[in-house]
Amino acid sequence: MERPHVLLVASPGLGHLIPILELGNRLSSVLNIRVTVLAVTSGSSSLTETGAIREVVARGTCEVTELPSVGIDHFVEPDATVFTRIIEKMRATKPVVEDAIKSMTQKPTVMIVDFLGTVMMSIADDVGMAKYVYVASHAWFLAVMVYLPILDRVVEGEYIDIKEPMKIPGCKPVGADDLMETMLDRSNRHYEECVRCGEEIPISDGVLVNTWEDLQGNTLAALREDREMSQVMKVPVYSIGPIIRSNRPTKKPNSIFEWLNKQRVRSVLYVCLGSGGTLSLKQTTELACGLEMSGQSFLWVLRRPTSYLGESSNNDDLVSDGLPEGFLDRTRGIGLVVTQWAPQVEILSHEAIGGFLSHCGWSSVLESLTKGVPIVAWPLYAEQWMNATLLTEEIGVAVRTMELPSKRVIGREEVASLVRKIMADENEEARKVRAKAEEVRVSSERAWTHGGSSHSSLLEWAERCCLLS
Ligand code: UDP
Repeated sequence: MERPHVLLVASPGLGHLIPILELGNRLSSVLNIRVTVLAVTSGSSSLTETGAIREVVARGTCEVTELPSVGIDHFVEPDATVFTRIIEKMRATKPVVEDAIKSMTQKPTVMIVDFLGTVMMSIADDVGMAKYVYVASHAWFLAVMVYLPILDRVVEGEYIDIKEPMKIPGCKPVGADDLMETMLDRSNRHYEECVRCGEEIPISDGVLVNTWEDLQGNTLAALREDREMSQVMKVPVYSIGPIIRSNRPTKKPNSIFEWLNKQRVRSVLYVCLGSGGTLSLKQTTELACGLEMSGQSFLWVLRRPTSYLGESSNNDDLVSDGLPEGFLDRTRGIGLVVTQWAPQVEILSHEAIGGFLSHCGWSSVLESLTKGVPIVAWPLYAEQWMNATLLTEEIGVAVRTMELPSKRVIGREEVASLVRKIMADENEEARKVRAKAEEVRVSSERAWTHGGSSHSSLLEWAERCCLLS
């Protein structure tokens, strides 16, 4: 008998592709079902995307098809934002997805899209598949997204001018500083697309979200039970996280691990701003001086980032341009600066790592929390501001800058003080934040044990979708 077949559609950009590939991996291994991933990729130079796909294909858990890139230049203004471009690319790729489904001999019965891919859900309706949205972020993000159409109706003017945090029923209120930049300029096309996504998520058959009960129980309860919220969020919410890339220890000699192996347990701060984060030269200098002043060991991934839609470029100028004179010599032995794509999950799993200075992309956050590593939150864009607030104010596993790093250069003294607040053994705040990080690590493991909250939630979803044999 054929195994049930589920179709996942990934939006372009590594930050969207990796979570969908990992979800596919988890569905296939836990439920023993057939999973096909259709990857809408960025275009010709998406080497990192191709690498991520190759990795999953090699594991043999999912079938992955990289769809031909469809041009969108006719549909977007030259100054259109990344968000608008991604949505437009998804819209333009609909016929390609339809054709791909038609050519499948065993038709999938369920389609899962990420939150930028809700435009694809009409295809599921046309061919009679159930349709679900995977929010690879957290429950508060989901709540704000689905409540945005209401805010859009009742709030006048720009959100940024509203001084008081805005009410999200049953959830932590959201301040203007926490909102994604796509929500900040209501005349921009990306705002319109964002509101549309918020409207479309609840017309799916349900939502899978990458968090777990012990981490965000109150927000999940609000999404499911709050009277006002349930008028918006009319479909079931399944918390199935944390779903992250698993640790794949490398046997090859690697200078990062050779260096880490020589460091004391929990003594190294890992610094990495994700797949797309970049700093100004001035900020790079201040960060470097702050790391040096903190006296803590560090491993810094200083990379000219690959942009979401795929251009990669040479990285080496960045190092010589941004770092203060003599920095590399002075910190030799204490710090290691690398300029290539780093094996982040393996690094965070190393016993020498004691803290993470992160841009707070949700995948990075989960990779850190599942290893019990506390965070210096350095949010740069997208929903990272909201993530930083959640981590510091609700969960208590992070410290953050006094002002957003996107608004002003964070000085070296503040950097050094933040680093000590999660790394220094004698620091009271560090002890608290580390204890909380350890508690969260334990709860993340519990969620995925047999009968744990996320494991049960996934089975409940699978039963609803008739995927269990
Ligand atoms: N990543 C990595 N090496 C790097 C930079 C990033 O492996 O040098 C991975 C990281 O482990 C995570 C993903 O890229 O899985 C980044 O996703 P996240 O949601 O944290 O942020 P984004 O890059 O989407 O902003």
